[in-house]
Amino acid sequence: MSALHDLSVAQLAATLAAKEVSSVEVAQHFLARIQSHDALGAFLATDEAQSLAQARAADARLAAGERAPLLGVPLAHKDVFVTRDFPTTAGSKMLANYRSPFDATVVSRLGSSGAGMVSLGKLNCDEFAMGSGNDNSAYKPVQNPWDTNRVPGGSSGGSAAAVAARLVPAATGTDTGGSIRQPASLSGITGIKPTYGRCSRYGMVAFASSLDQAGPMARSALDCALLLSAMAGPDLDRDSTSLDLPNVDYAAELIAANAQAAGPKPLQGLRIGLPTQFFGAGCSADVLATVRGALAELEKLGATLVDVSLPLTELSIPVYYVIAPAEASSNLSRYDGVRYGHRAANYTDLEDMYKKSRSEGFGDEVTRRIMIGTYVLSHGYYDAYYLKAQKIRRLIAEDFQKAFTQCDIIAGPVSPTVAWKIGERSDDPVASYLADIYTLSSSLAGLPGMSVPAGFGAHGMPVGLQLIGNYFKEAQLLSTAHRFQMTTDWHQRKPGAAA
Ligand code: GLN
Repeated sequence: MSALHDLSVAQLAATLAAKEVSSVEVAQHFLARIQSHDALGAFLATDEAQSLAQARAADARLAAGERAPLLGVPLAHKDVFVTRDFPTTAGSKMLANYRSPFDATVVSRLGSSGAGMVSLGKLNCDEFAMGSGNDNSAYKPVQNPWDTNRVPGGSSGGSAAAVAARLVPAATGTDTGGSIRQPASLSGITGIKPTYGRCSRYGMVAFASSLDQAGPMARSALDCALLLSAMAGPDLDRDSTSLDLPNVDYAAELIAANAQAAGPKPLQGLRIGLPTQFFGAGCSADVLATVRGALAELEKLGATLVDVSLPLTELSIPVYYVIAPAEASSNLSRYDGVRYGHRAANYTDLEDMYKKSRSEGFGDEVTRRIMIGTYVLSHGYYDAYYLKAQKIRRLIAEDFQKAFTQCDIIAGPVSPTVAWKIGERSDDPVASYLADIYTLSSSLAGLPGMSVPAGFGAHGMPVGLQLIGNYFKEAQLLSTAHRFQMTTDWHQRKPGAAA
């Protein structure tokens, strides 16, 4: 049998159900691996006693004969999901040592009171999920398991690195403007950002509420499908923007789609749209060549490639970097040093306490965004920036609907380059913003998107293929990715750091 950490979520679940190993043993195996391998910096918190208590609860359910697709399998959560059993920091000093009195909906649905997964701890991320390289974490950067001098991507960089290095078989992430897809791409794993509202935002530390969305990150599309089925679903009492749609068994859908489309051309009839704006000069040649290789493979499987246009792609950067900071400035006003979070030790009066607490608690990028956001929402600028951005946001969403009259799925790169060196972009926030070009537009439109390992580019670093679906088409994205993964093995390649 392969080592436990090489097994997929689906394989681990089967091994547990067959009683070949207990959930406690699996948790112990991964915790030992985290101990020995996490010089990568992926974890911000572990707690053996809590994890083993969750594993014992899963073992009891297994012993009672319960069969559930994720029961007893370990995972870890991005540190923006609040958890009772572990501290939650959102990668910020502002929330150092913060302990939530409740679990986020996604956490409870996946955990002991739901699917029965066992949490191994909390994963590093950019502060308040603002960033693209995990180098904005207030605690430590995360190394890419494929080359430890390089970033894993961000903001869900700890999630991506931990899964790629096989420190955990699956993780949660959040995606506001690309933070599941981009680190998945840069670290060579699979990740899906569902339609906005598919997963409840209750208990997710808020960044930009009209964009924030939770999703799974794992090595394969099948594993992502298993997790998404448990995470998603309406939660209207606690998040009024959660979608009032019945739960979907994505793994069953994926298997059914697959069984239906047998033969040499299983993707026959699927039209994949290639936006000219995603294949232009802004993308590096190695990434383009890798993405084109993956598209040729999809074509071999029967898909038809069609050219489409998303004319406002370029505007997604200024629009996102007005709307996201605007919402962030409002969401982060709650950190005032009064109810929770960091409070300065010395201050003269209330105003001084606010100022010092916030200046000490927030890092540079967060401060920058609060300032931009406050500016674009201020009297006299609101119409010129915020309102204008909202109008263009609508037009961007309409562009996608036009494109979807010509195709079923839109494909392209996730990131214009492979992972860069740690520190390389630290002094240049705009360089990071520009690199979000292929993920922001679908986020602004609220569409589901995923990153699928597609090969390797410059420096032997992984490259992801992005697949964007129309609203609620997660099942189609996952089954297309699954098809691709049945004939390719990019998602099974193992980085040096995972030895
Ligand atoms: N890189 C983008 C940003 O910095 C996206 C972050 C995210 O999706 N959380 O805002």
